[in-house]
Amino acid sequence: MKVIADGLLETLTSAVVRFKKAEIEGRDLEFIFFKCPFCDMTFARSDTRNDHELTHTGVKNYKCQFCDMTFTKQQTKQKHELTHTGHQ
Ligand SMILES: [Zn+2]
Ligand SMILES: [Zn+2]
Repeated sequence: MKVIADGLLETLTSAVVRFKKAEIEGRDLEFIFFKCPFCDMTFARSDTRNDHELTHTGVKNYKCQFCDMTFTKQQTKQKHELTHTGHQ
């Protein structure tokens, strides 16, 4: 557990927050969280955090392959593309 957490800390940016929870039932539990650099929200997964960050930055990484529209989420883009292909 500790090794994995340390590895993550090496590869990720300062937006990673790591803290030790108080001892529970005699066990020292360690958790790693991914903090949004724009607000106080924390996330268990880095990709969830990145997704959330887009609501602050407004960066639209997903472009429709049929027109010039861009989207913050792949899901939204895929849904939009259905309007071109005609499938529901
Ligand atoms: Zn945020
Ligand atoms: Zn389109």
